[in-house]
Amino acid sequence: MNTNDSSSPNPDFDVLIQGGTVIDGTGSPRYRADVGIKGDQVTALGDLQNATGSHTIDAQGKIVCPGFVDVHNHSDSWLLNTPNFISKTSQGFTTEVIMADGISYAPVDRCTAQDWIHYLLSLDGLYPEEYTGWESLEDYMNLIDGKNVQNVMTHIPYANLRAMNCGFSRQRVDDFQMKQICSEVHKGMEAGAVGISTGLDYVAQCFSTTDELVEACQAMAEYDGLYVSHIRYKKTLMPAIKELVEIGKRAGVKVHISHMKGQHPGQAEEALEYIDQIARHEVDISFDVYPYQPGSTMLHFLLPYEVFEDGPLKAVEKLKQPEMQQRFKYGLENYLLDISAIQIAWVLTEKNKHHQGKSLSQYVEESGLPKEEALIDLLIEEQMAVLLVFNMGDDRLVDPVLQHDLYMMGTDGIYMEGGMIHPRQFGSAARLLGPCVRDHKLFSLEDAVYKLSGAAAQRFGLGKRSQLKEGFFADVVVFDPETVQDNATYDNPQQFSSGIEYVLSNGVPIVHNNQPLDINSEKLPGRYVRYQPR
Ligand SMILES: [Zn+2]
Repeated sequence: MNTNDSSSPNPDFDVLIQGGTVIDGTGSPRYRADVGIKGDQVTALGDLQNATGSHTIDAQGKIVCPGFVDVHNHSDSWLLNTPNFISKTSQGFTTEVIMADGISYAPVDRCTAQDWIHYLLSLDGLYPEEYTGWESLEDYMNLIDGKNVQNVMTHIPYANLRAMNCGFSRQRVDDFQMKQICSEVHKGMEAGAVGISTGLDYVAQCFSTTDELVEACQAMAEYDGLYVSHIRYKKTLMPAIKELVEIGKRAGVKVHISHMKGQHPGQAEEALEYIDQIARHEVDISFDVYPYQPGSTMLHFLLPYEVFEDGPLKAVEKLKQPEMQQRFKYGLENYLLDISAIQIAWVLTEKNKHHQGKSLSQYVEESGLPKEEALIDLLIEEQMAVLLVFNMGDDRLVDPVLQHDLYMMGTDGIYMEGGMIHPRQFGSAARLLGPCVRDHKLFSLEDAVYKLSGAAAQRFGLGKRSQLKEGFFADVVVFDPETVQDNATYDNPQQFSSGIEYVLSNGVPIVHNNQPLDINSEKLPGRYVRYQPR
C-alpha cells in the first residue's frame, strides 16, 4: 500500500483514504467509498477522487472499517506504561475496556494498593515500585488519558471495592460495608465506568453471595450500568449463567458474560440454547470470548480460596501451612487436570525464567518432588507470580459462541515481556477476520467487523466510536481481506498478525504499512472514554 504526503497548499482533508471498500461496523453490506478525515473526525464518505489530503492512503483492494474494541483484557498496567501497546494496535484495536474480572489497580487505598499489585503480578505486570499513589478510578484513568495511542474505558472492579471496605476475608458484607460499597459504585459510574465487573472465581469476590451482588448492581441501575461478569465457572457453566441472569433480573440491570466457553463438547451449545430460549427473554444479555478454546490464567487460581483470606501479601506465608498444601493436593486431584498440557507461560524471577515454555509435568518431573510440593515450592519462590497457558481443547468448540448474534470480541489477552503467553494477545482480531471468515466460514466479513467494533461500541456505550460514519471519531482500520491472518502460536506466541495495514486513532496514524509507529510525543491521541448509555 502506498501513502503520500501532499504538497498542495490547502488540502481538503488531513487524512484521505482513497479507493477502498467500506465496512461500517453495523453489520451492513460493504460499499465502495473514499474516507475523508479532518482532525479527529470522519467528515466525508463517498467519491473523493478529486479531493486532496495532507496525508493520503491508497486503499485499492482493501477494506476500510472502524477501529476494533476489546471489551475484556488485562491491559490495565500496559496502557499506563506503554504509549503504543503494539501487540494490540498491530491487530487494529483502538479502544480497550480495562479493569475486567473485578480485580485491578484502582480504586485502592493505602491499605490495599500493594495487595493488588502483588496479586496481579502475573496477570497485569505492574511492579510494586511503579505505584505512584493513585487511589480512585478517575485518578487512574486520568493517568492514561492522552498518554496512550488507544482509547480506554473502564469497569468498576468489584473485588477492589469489597477489599477496601471489608478486607479479603470470607466475612459477610454488613449493612455499613454494603453502604460504602454502593457509594463507591456511584463514584465509579460518575467517573464514566460502563458498570461493575466481577470475577467470581477470584479473590475476595468468590465470597460474595448472590444477594450481595444484586445489591451492588442495584446501585448502578439508575446509570443504566452493565454488569460484566466472569461468572462462577468453577461451579460449572449452567448454574453460573443462571446466577448472572438472576442478578440482572433482580437488580434491573443488563448483563454481560466474560469469556463464555464450554469445557466439553456440547456445553457451549447447551448454554446458548438456554440463552436463546429463556435468558434473553428475561434479561438484556450479551457475551464475549477469544477465538481459541485453550485458556490462560495464574497458577494461584488453582489454590484453595483461604490462602488469600488475609490478603495477597500474606498469602505466601499461608501457603506454607501443611493444611493448605494438603487442600491444594485434593484440589489438583479433583480438577483432574492434565498437567502435561499446561505450560508455564511466565514467572517473576530470573532464576526460573528457563522454565518458561515447559509443561507443568516436565517441571514436576525435573524437580523430583510430588506434584503438589513442586508447584507449591514454585509459587513460594515466585511470590505467587506464575502464569499458565492451558493448551488443551479443540478450537472448533468455541465456534458456536463466536457465531452467535449476542457475541462480541474480548481477547482476554495477558501480555508478559518475553513470556510464552497465550497467542490470543497477538492474534485474536486477525483470526476472526481471516481464518474464521475464509477458512471456517463461520460468518461474513461484515459480521466479523461488527463483532470487533459496532457490537461492542453499542453495548459498552462508546458514543460516536467504532462505527465508520460521518461525524464519528476517526478510529479506522485498513486491512487486506485476502491476507489478514493471525501468526501467533503456542510455541511462538509473540508474533504480529499479517494484513492489518493501517490503523488510525482519533485521526492519528498509529500503525503504518503493517508497522506500529513508535510515537514519542507529549500528547498522544488516545482518550479516556466515558460511558454513554443510549
Ligand atoms: Zn476472567
